[in-house]
Amino acid sequence: MTENAGTSDIQARATGLIAFLGLGHMGGPMAANLIKAGHEVIGYDPVPAAVEAALAHGIPMASTAHEAAAEAAVVLTMLPSGKHVLDAYRGVDGPGLLSVVKPDTLFLDCSTINVDEAREAAALAVEGGHRSVDAPVSGGVVGAEAGTLTFMVGALPEDFDTVKPILELMGKRIVHCGDHGAGQAAKVCNNMILGVSMIAVAEAFVLGEKLGLTHQALFDVASNASGQCWALTTNCPVPGPVPTSPANRDYQPGFAGALMAKDLRLALNALESTGVAAEMGPLASRIYDAFAAGDGAGRDFSGIITEIRDKSV
Ligand code: NAD
Repeated sequence: MTENAGTSDIQARATGLIAFLGLGHMGGPMAANLIKAGHEVIGYDPVPAAVEAALAHGIPMASTAHEAAAEAAVVLTMLPSGKHVLDAYRGVDGPGLLSVVKPDTLFLDCSTINVDEAREAAALAVEGGHRSVDAPVSGGVVGAEAGTLTFMVGALPEDFDTVKPILELMGKRIVHCGDHGAGQAAKVCNNMILGVSMIAVAEAFVLGEKLGLTHQALFDVASNASGQCWALTTNCPVPGPVPTSPANRDYQPGFAGALMAKDLRLALNALESTGVAAEMGPLASRIYDAFAAGDGAGRDFSGIITEIRDKSV
């Protein structure tokens, strides 16, 4: 095959039908952006409310996942967990998607799942004669709606070239992190930094309160010194210094505590499977599990500061 034929082949695939499975908080607006850009999309979601919302955004919906995927060039999944992804690929009580799609279909998973599950999903897809890309996102529902998500992509180089134009319709930063699973690896490492750093920032503000510092004084120093980080300067856990942070709206998310707890569990699994001698990541995971088990599940993860303050003498 000549280089030109290869390029046009890639373009043809990139503009083929996308089966979009999972039209929840994130998937719904992401699929709507593909439709807005003129892409051919067919959706599937088992929940009637998600179907109704998708239809209202002009997304044609299939009545089964198999029906959506049968003629697709790309099967994009945006599902709650790795089990959902693997069950969909393999099938539970019948054939899975991998055995009902056309040969050489590209499976593009944008869900946040374990690195090991992403590698397993990719191996299954490749064994089945297909292609696989993991591309988890950051940017939340606001980024999904605005089409400004960051995609962290694990893919073979030629598959990255195929998915990049699709991802650019839903995001503004598309980072090729490496081979299969590398997107999930980057996401889990980043979110472990985020969880640990938010706890550190929140503890520092409560300590500052006890020491008689105003929030603004600590912010003015730390945001221009070595304590500077996203948890402080963008998602500041106290009201005032950063007017757009969730602390100014009683910790309405934002990034909900339940999602942080989930992502830290994925980090914990990765730490355990790789044997890393980490202490802060597992501790952050326990702290956010407890937060999410109470009323923190639906609050922004920066609300952890209220737990720290309440437990302090
Ligand atoms: P959600 O629960 O709102 O949506 C998931 C959707 O998948 C639901 O509508 C559900 O009915 C559907 N679904 C379940 N099984 C299915 C199947 N077999 N086939 C088709 N659809 C199926 O979750 P969400 O907030 O949209 O998150 C989706 C993924 O994105 C998760 O992995 C999450 O961790 C990740 N994520 C979420 C955010 C966020 O801010 N919400 C941010 C970054 C990443």
